[in-house]
Amino acid sequence: MIIKPKIRGFICTNAHPVGCAENVKRQIDFVRSKPAISDGPKNVLVIGCSTGYGLASRVTAAFGSEAHTLGVCFEKEPTEKKTATAGWYNTAAFHQQADKAGLAFHSINGDAFSDEIKQESIDYIKQNMGKIDLVVYSLASPKRKDPESGEVYSSVLKPIGKQYTTKTYNTDKDQVHEITLDPATDDDIANTVKVMGGEDWERWIKALHEAGVLANNCQTTAYTYIGKKLTLPIYGHATIGRAKEDLDRAASGLVSSHDDLNLKAYVSSLKALVTQASSAIPVMPLYISLIYKVMKEEGTHEGCIEQIYRLFTEGLYANNPELDEAGRLHMDGYETNDKTQAKVEALWEQVNQDNFHQLSDYEGYHQDFLQLFGFGFDNVDYDADIDPKVNW
Ligand code: NAD
Repeated sequence: MIIKPKIRGFICTNAHPVGCAENVKRQIDFVRSKPAISDGPKNVLVIGCSTGYGLASRVTAAFGSEAHTLGVCFEKEPTEKKTATAGWYNTAAFHQQADKAGLAFHSINGDAFSDEIKQESIDYIKQNMGKIDLVVYSLASPKRKDPESGEVYSSVLKPIGKQYTTKTYNTDKDQVHEITLDPATDDDIANTVKVMGGEDWERWIKALHEAGVLANNCQTTAYTYIGKKLTLPIYGHATIGRAKEDLDRAASGLVSSHDDLNLKAYVSSLKALVTQASSAIPVMPLYISLIYKVMKEEGTHEGCIEQIYRLFTEGLYANNPELDEAGRLHMDGYETNDKTQAKVEALWEQVNQDNFHQLSDYEGYHQDFLQLFGFGFDNVDYDADIDPKVNW
């Protein structure tokens, strides 16, 4: 099969196995080029391990700290006629590289919100890992089935309180235009908290603890984006921001209810980057294209792997890491500092249909978007006939 990108709106509906392997290899090469993480984790569970920040967390734990990693993800297998999702190919490539490096690993493909997948993970840990010393919670999902009630909740991306009109960039039509987003209802807010808030993170830690598979001094982290003025109305102060605030509640509850283990639970605030999750958020493609421009000029641009390697070395496994007033770790300072934000706000004021490609780094945004699905790598032959059936 000759595999070319099939882009529909903010998503690419296919993926390239060789390009996904290249994406994973580049992340591994980055971690290998850095010093090993001193006193890093040895037995790691990554929930949401196959793309974005979760994949980078798995790569960092495995190749930076020689950890045995158990990954949980929700990806589609390939068929004769259809490629797998990118996360499937990323996981296959991770397995191949980890195997070559003599590292222990296992992945479970299924709904992480369910009790069955939690139990399957616990069974694997008991039989093969002993106790876990780091749990990374990196799920991004539009839906969650509550395992107790069976009800399916959907998250929405809406402002809170009043309508919000702002600029956005439509990647399909190559158009900068205004959009007006209607405010969320109380149900919208509650549903988004149910999907992307802390409840499932708490359920995971509770289940792992009850099964006796968490090590003393175990750490756990969930990821958040806080952002600044330009993104607050649609992110920080919007439905998704409410869900992220619920992570703060969960983190302090996890610490107090697991003091027998001396568990540390952190919400880690990361920078805005192109991932499958962020490209679906209105405003984000425009904001990210502009912030990429500013940060590349400042020499501070980072991808998922650079962010996560720093999170491990400067945060989770540092002595006395710097925490904010809510006890969070921050790797987003190069993005959110006042000087950088002033530059992006100035660009935001000016940007319009005519000057968008001049003022922004849309090329960089688009390149990153393609690479999420294994496309756009200069050393991959996209005219080659490829077998999409790659197994784990
Ligand atoms: P992503 O879409 O790249 O990754 C999501 C992961 O979750 C994938 O591994 C997917 O397989 C898995 N997943 C989704 N639903 C699942 C389910 N039901 N069961 C099992 N696995 C499931 O997303 P991302 O951008 O890396 O986001 C990860 C976390 O980082 C999220 O909490 C997000 O809010 C946060 N974050 C993202 C950004 C950003 O700019 N992308 C910035 C800061 C924080």
